[in-house]
Amino acid sequence: MPNPTKTIAIVNGTGRQAASVIRAVTAVGYAVRAQVYSIEGLVAEELAELPNVELFEGELLDNPELIETIFDGANIAFINTIHLAGDEIKIGKALANAAKKRNIQHFVYSSMPDHSIHYPKWPALPLWACKFTVENYIRQLGLPATFVYAGIYNNNFTSLPYPLFCMDFKDDGTLEWRAPFHPDTKLPWLDAEHDVGPAVLQIFKDGPNKWNGSRIALAFEMLTPNQVCDIFGRALDRPCNYVFDNHIEIKVPVPNVYRQQLAGIELLFGIYNAPYFPGPEFEYASRRKCSNDTITGRSSTNYESSLRKGKPGKLTDDARKLWPGWRSMSEYVSTAFIVEEEANGKTWMI
Ligand code: NAD
Repeated sequence: MPNPTKTIAIVNGTGRQAASVIRAVTAVGYAVRAQVYSIEGLVAEELAELPNVELFEGELLDNPELIETIFDGANIAFINTIHLAGDEIKIGKALANAAKKRNIQHFVYSSMPDHSIHYPKWPALPLWACKFTVENYIRQLGLPATFVYAGIYNNNFTSLPYPLFCMDFKDDGTLEWRAPFHPDTKLPWLDAEHDVGPAVLQIFKDGPNKWNGSRIALAFEMLTPNQVCDIFGRALDRPCNYVFDNHIEIKVPVPNVYRQQLAGIELLFGIYNAPYFPGPEFEYASRRKCSNDTITGRSSTNYESSLRKGKPGKLTDDARKLWPGWRSMSEYVSTAFIVEEEANGKTWMI
């Protein structure tokens, strides 16, 4: 392995997005300085074995020493924060300030939208809007930065009774996915573990000259819930039904803020059929006309009329150009999903 050409600062190193980035960048010789919440566990142990990786264990909230440490000697950064670690706005701003102080040349921030700024009735989802606040702060600081917006992870699906993406194995041998997404509205999908790393690596290679200030949808497929269920049905060779249900049943204990997030999702997608990623950067002429009207009785929204015609091309264009080797939902279901289910102790595949 040649001497590292670049050193990248990373947080939540064992998370699906960051771990994927660490695997991709170390494969081409970058050095990594990554914060992790624990150095124990399969992923942390795997990452620690990779060349030129240093892991730093600790909390990010109110921990300037640890933040200084991960940026020490780094030239670029990939930052994806999580709510479990505490106030994401405070953590995000502290990371941006440290990056600015260290003259980081390219700061790639995993953001998410605040729907409430686009249409007054749309709620701000608490776990997303905080990221958008940090994005705006990074822009104000003038850091050379790019903002990636991760699509819905393929591997959110599980047969465990978690809310929103439970693929329920019914006693009669069929599958059922029940969610408040309109059955024929296309949603953006991403195989986070497989595809975040290579796409982000290419963003770093292209650099801020190409991507400074840009928002990039990390989504490789646009699929409706009905299409997702068709794929599951074919891949697992059993009928799979999608049920549009405006109420998300919560069968396991979840943090309060996630409960609020789910209530917001019921409203945003179940009632208003809002675009997953709103705003002109994400509005393409190819997007099927929003069918809010069937649900809300509204003929059009200010949001839609303000969008003019939309850009040429598709929402997936940037991601597919960055990384043409992406994993489809179909490949995910017939390979990774089965392995994940086995790891969860499920035996339906035997
Ligand atoms: P992840 O969910 O894979 O990471 C979980 C990490 O959190 C692990 O490293 C674990 O060690 C750590 N962790 C678990 N409990 C903890 C605790 N109590 N305190 C601190 N850390 C704890 O992470 P990810 O998927 O890379 O990133 C999550 C972020 O991505 C979230 O902010 C989410 O909103 C965003 N996101 C998710 C999706 C999706 O479809 N799932 C889509 C877009 C954006």
